[in-house]
Amino acid sequence: MAEKDFYKILGVSRSASEDEIKSAYRKLAKQYHPDLYSGKSVAEKKAAEDKFKEISRAYDCLSDANKRTQYDQTGSDEVGGGSGGGFWRGGAGTGGFEDIFSNIFSSFGGAARQYQNGAVDGDDISLNLTLTFKEAAFGCSKEIPITRVENCPDCGGTGAKNSGAVKTCSKCGGSGVMRHVMNTPFGQMATTKTCDQCGGRGKIITDPCKTCSGGGRVKKLRTLNISVPAGIDNGQIMTYYNQGSAGVNGGRNGNVIVIINVRPHKLFVRKGSDLYIDVPITMTQAALGCKIYIPTLEAPVSYTIAEGAQTGQQFRIKGYGLKHFKKESRGDLYVKIIVEIPKNLSSKEKDALRSLESSLGQSQYPTQRAYLENIKEI
Ligand SMILES: [Zn+2]
Ligand SMILES: [Zn+2]
Repeated sequence: MAEKDFYKILGVSRSASEDEIKSAYRKLAKQYHPDLYSGKSVAEKKAAEDKFKEISRAYDCLSDANKRTQYDQTGSDEVGGGSGGGFWRGGAGTGGFEDIFSNIFSSFGGAARQYQNGAVDGDDISLNLTLTFKEAAFGCSKEIPITRVENCPDCGGTGAKNSGAVKTCSKCGGSGVMRHVMNTPFGQMATTKTCDQCGGRGKIITDPCKTCSGGGRVKKLRTLNISVPAGIDNGQIMTYYNQGSAGVNGGRNGNVIVIINVRPHKLFVRKGSDLYIDVPITMTQAALGCKIYIPTLEAPVSYTIAEGAQTGQQFRIKGYGLKHFKKESRGDLYVKIIVEIPKNLSSKEKDALRSLESSLGQSQYPTQRAYLENIKEI
């Protein structure tokens, strides 16, 4: 069976570092983000969405050390799943034409998986979750309403009013598939087709369930409890396996895919786990030196600025950045000094400045002095 290779999906080697995996994922996620395809055709949208989910799933697995180890050992990211029971289920052992083709299509990220017994996987549910800057920084819990398709509670998903209202399909004898053996130059080949009388279910309902009108499925509003880890970033994706719509006839449930959107902060700019802030001080504070309080995401931190500070001067306050995603360590806070020159001076103030300036020598303006000397050499 064709097994999906998460490393190939992300285009990284099996020995790729965490950072390599992250940057490969970011690049691909940007390329295939569903938002970029909003104006495109349905087919293009679907292809991008499938690709996006595939990338997300690969990243979800490889970015987590435990899941990655399990995947490396078993070839599967499913808890308790071995290489046989994992990602790509389907007619193992029966080996017909259709199996080969469906696996080839699957490995190109094609249509939803279909099984020989008429089982179909449930739909995934994608949603955007917008967080404030602080929620992303410290993590939070969210309750998100989702509408998903579930098996009908009154008939257990059979679609029949009671067990007597179900008959085995006479055309396929209950297997849901029609099997046909062909002789080819390569030997005998078996092809299988979904039974057209029962739609692959293997059963015919004579008296349908009233709740679901025989479909076996109902829409339900559910609440998904989401625990957002501290340090999550814009564009990251959280996948809740099996929480999407129910599969049909033993098909797998879909997943809920939560795409994180973090609102920008008015003061802090985030780069990875580090924060950046511009702090304005007055011309006089810069010249004389001063003690200022730097805002952080927690309590302000006092900092002494030495005399002669300049615009653009940067310093670092260690450990006041964001928590590294899924780690205990934290990034840093980078503070850039902006010297603000006063505006709307009165004539008296202007005179005071002129008299100050006349007392200053070139050695007190080393940057300007160097500049003027370099000008002469042009
Ligand atoms: Zn029902
Ligand atoms: Zn049938």
